[in-house]
Amino acid sequence: MKQIIGGNWKMNGSRLAALEFLSEMKRLGSGSVSSEIVLFPPFTLISLMADAAADAGIETGGQDIFWLEKGAFTGEISPAMLVDAGASWFLVGHSERRHVIGETDDIVRRKLEAGLETGLRGILCVGELIEERDAGRTEEVVRRQVESALKGLECVSTENFVIAYEPVWAIGTGLTATPGEAERMHSLIREWVAGAISIDFADNTRIQYGGSVKPDNAAEILSRPSVNGALVGGASLKAKSFMDILKAVPPQD
Ligand code: PEP
Repeated sequence: MKQIIGGNWKMNGSRLAALEFLSEMKRLGSGSVSSEIVLFPPFTLISLMADAAADAGIETGGQDIFWLEKGAFTGEISPAMLVDAGASWFLVGHSERRHVIGETDDIVRRKLEAGLETGLRGILCVGELIEERDAGRTEEVVRRQVESALKGLECVSTENFVIAYEPVWAIGTGLTATPGEAERMHSLIREWVAGAISIDFADNTRIQYGGSVKPDNAAEILSRPSVNGALVGGASLKAKSFMDILKAVPPQD
């Protein structure tokens, strides 16, 4: 399975820095790595970046999406607007959307469905809070997030869908799940995906790990058989560190 490495810039970046980042990525060889690369800049930078990103072998996506096409929804961005800006991907359910903005499982599901129906490819983020982990509720929480997003979803395929397991306590904190912990959760997520859709679908669905992935820990995480890529926040803001993570991907079929 081809690994997929995502870079989530969150609320960071400027026009100048974005174009410099892309020319540096190209110079460092992003066009010839074996993984799929997707960058999620702020919405304001997508149309500026899309062509130069494609030239550097990088796809672009929105960090979020709304579930309706147009109308009186101040501040929202529709799936068609993302396509128009040149994006081919979107993220849904990132922990900052769930826990800072307050998005529910139902909202995440509606966004996922709308984005996939429009022909975009989506990454569903799931993961437990530290309180949930400490209370022994990790499996219950992540299972609920996976099943509520996927059960009965018709427009989903292994080409247009990826899951990112991101334990919330590991995002931006410098903490990471041990490779063993990540593997265990990835295997469970695959079981829940199998129950929600099918075994064949689950076997062929890529599951990324996210949470403080850096150049110095990427190789260990990405070499685990159940890990099919990474979603990277902080370390995707600099071309050198993002490229070092891409270079840490083991040879793949
Ligand atoms: C993220 O934003 O999805 C993320 C994993 O961030 P970081 O790599 O900075 O922990």
